[in-house]
Parts: sequence; C-alpha cells; structure tokens
Amino acid sequence: MTVSIWQAEGREPIREVDVLVVGAGLAGCAAAMFLHQAGHEDDVAVTEMRDVALGASGRNAGFMITGLDLYYHHAVEKYGADVTREVYALSERTHAIWRGLIDKHGVRFNGIGSMLLAESDAEADELRKAYAAMQAEGISAIFHDGDPLGRGYCAAIEQPQDGAVQPVELARAALTESEAELIDNNEIYSIAQIAPGKVIVQTRKYTFHARKVLLATNAYSVSLHPYFAGKIIPTRAQVMVTAPLAKPALNTCGYSDYGFMYYRMTFDNRLLIGGGRKLYKDLENDTLEDRVTTPVQSYIDAYMARRFPDVKAPVERRWAGIMGFTPDGLPLVGALPDAPDVVFCAGFNGHGLALAAAAAERAVNLLLHGTHAGAFSPDRPTLKP
Ligand SMILES: Cc1cc2nc3c(=O)[nH]c(=O)nc-3n(C[C@H](O)[C@H](O)[C@H](O)COP(=O)(O)OP(=O)(O)OC[C@H]3O[C@@H](n4cnc5c(N)ncnc54)[C@H](O)[C@@H]3O)c2cc1C
Repeated sequence: MTVSIWQAEGREPIREVDVLVVGAGLAGCAAAMFLHQAGHEDDVAVTEMRDVALGASGRNAGFMITGLDLYYHHAVEKYGADVTREVYALSERTHAIWRGLIDKHGVRFNGIGSMLLAESDAEADELRKAYAAMQAEGISAIFHDGDPLGRGYCAAIEQPQDGAVQPVELARAALTESEAELIDNNEIYSIAQIAPGKVIVQTRKYTFHARKVLLATNAYSVSLHPYFAGKIIPTRAQVMVTAPLAKPALNTCGYSDYGFMYYRMTFDNRLLIGGGRKLYKDLENDTLEDRVTTPVQSYIDAYMARRFPDVKAPVERRWAGIMGFTPDGLPLVGALPDAPDVVFCAGFNGHGLALAAAAAERAVNLLLHGTHAGAFSPDRPTLKP
C-alpha cells in the first residue's frame, strides 16, 4: 500500500522500539510470539495496515496440512532429498507450534486428517509415486487405491495427523501469546537502515526508530521494497461456502488436482470449496486485488456440481485473498541486502498453515542471532534465475 503526503503529514511522531514486526498475519503474529519467548517482552511492537489476520491469514481454507505443496517425489526431483526432508520437518514443527496454541487458547480445530485425492488415473499414478517416496523416508501416511470418499476420485493419500483450523483465532492466539503491542490501521511506506542497529521505518501514524525490523508482509512485500520484485509474486486465491448442511458432505480436508482444488466442512457444517485458478493464471497471478472473479467462481460452482451433486444448499459467501508465491515454491527468510537488521519472512505459496510458524521461528533466530535460514534462505540454488 502507498501513503500520500497528505495522509501522513504532521502525524509522524518518533517512536523508539527495539524490534518492529510489520504485518499481523500468521507469520507476523508467530514472529512476535517467538520474540517474546526469546525474552523481548516489552520492546516489540507489531504494526499492521489493517487489523489482525485481514490478509491471507484470515481468508484461507484453514487446512493445517503437513508437507510441501509439491507431491513428495516431485519435491525431491526439484529441491533434492535433503531440502525436501528439511522442509517436511519444518511443516511438522509448524504443526506442533500451532497445536500448542490451539490447545492453550481453545482455537477451533477439527482433527479430521487430510486427503490428497486424484482427479484422474494419471494423478493416481503420481500419488502412488509420492506415497512410495514418502514411505522411503519413513513418513507415515495411508494410501487408498480407489476412492475413499465415494465421489469419483481415483486414489488418495491420507494424513491422519492433519486437520481444519479457524485461522483468525489461531493468529489472534499467537498475538496474545506475544504480549506485543498491536498498532493497527498503520501501513508502513518506507524503510531504511541508516547505521548498524538503527532502522527508520515511516508509517502513516509514526516514524519508528527500531534496532531491528521483521517484515511479515507476505504478498504485499513487493509494494514495500524493490528487493522483492520477481521473488514474491502476489497470487489470488478464491473460496466459497454454502449455507449450513443437514449432515456433513465429507469428513476430511480434501484437496486434489495437484492442490488446485480444496474442500472441507466449516465448524457450522457448511461446505467450503476453494481453488479453481488453474485455468485462469493470467487473471489470478500478479495481482494485489482481493476480489472474486466470475470465471474462477463459476469453475468452483461447476466443481461442486460435479463432485458434490448431493449438496443442494445455496452458496452464501464468496471471498478472495492474496497469497505470496516464490519462483521455486519455497518460503523466503533472509535479510535485506541494503539493511542487514531488516529480516523478512514471506512467500508461503498457499501453505502458510504448513510452514509459517517454523519460518517465523527461523526469521527470529536470524534477526537475533544471525542463524542461517537453511532451506528458506534466498541464497539457495533453486532461487537463482
Ligand atoms: C483463499 C485462500 C486459501 C488458502 N488456504 C490455505 C490453506 O488451507 N492452508 C494453508 O496452509 N494456507 C492457505 N492459504 C495461504 C495462507 O493463508 C498464507 O500462506 C498465510 O496466511 C500467510 O501468512 P502471512 O502472515 O505471511 O500473510 P498475510 O496473512 O497476508 O499477512 C501479511 C500482513 O501484512 C500486512 N501488511 C502488508 N503490507 C503492509 C504494510 N505496508 N504496512 C503494514 N502492514 C502491511 C497485511 O495487511 C497482512 O495482514 C490460503 C490463502 C488464501 C488466500
């Protein structure tokens, strides 16, 4: 977002903070929580241009799935076995962190597992290969050679440890845990490091003088700093929900078509279906507009008619959110080249519930101790053009 000279004029008193977190989504709230755990109780502020979880974190489908967004064998081909193993472990770490918050703060969560479903025989073959690669790594999962849902799918990999969460409650729980001050309705529009340990951050309401800054602005990072051009690609995702149903249409977090379609029941028994952007990448990629579009919503409607013909309830709500994609599909945790005390944690490729907490933990370790971010570091070979 940009801020005009009129909007900020005369409203920028200086505020000294030790660590400033920018963005109150899942990543920013988790980062604030880790800063608190590292002993930074009173000196962390979170600044957010809207309010908690009004970005992708509050607009997602709430699938808490372990793993990467690529099928396991494809991930091994692309990143190598070591990186794939590391990222899978980071998704397990993220799960454990979220589960701690869910249990402590009573965040709504249905431990219904997930099913990666095949839409075609060709996709079923891919699932067989993915399952074999997971077995070779000792990852526990269940393979269904057929359709466990009775809806015309061809095969499935089930992960019983996964589930469906209320993501806004989760982000709020992390923020509560952090005890950090939230400054909402306060977009930042410039950031500059002028000396070691001195970063000037201009926002609509204040000019912050911070020792360190953690950017958790995900898709919106491209509007903040030229470094992110070509590294974070804002990508729209869309969802719809029906009116409440008399009985659940499924009892899992289902996703298929290589992750392009996903479906679950909400806590009040509505069928949620998301995705549908596969054929409309030109429309849905490289945009920061979180509005629904007719082609994608029509695609989702047609999908419901095909796979859930028994569901007759009307659609009651449709929405969109903006995800941050990276060229190689892995998140980015690093420091700005011209500002070593500004660390970023972004680019979850539609899988923030799988990876954002562990990424935030690595970002805080980099910020406070200089610890390398491993597979998420931008110096990785797969990110190079
Ligand atoms: C429709 C949809 C479905 C999805 N489904 C799933 C799913 O089922 N499972 C899953 O794992 N992931 C899913 N995702 C992805 C997931 O939501 C994201 O990966 C995750 O929310 C990223 O968290 P974040 O905190 O990095 O980003 P965000 O939640 O987008 O947070 C970034 C924050 O930064 C703020 N900000 C940006 N610029 C500024 C600025 N200049 N000044 C101040 N504040 C600023 C924004 O307002 C925003 O609140 C889905 C996403 C969408 C849109």
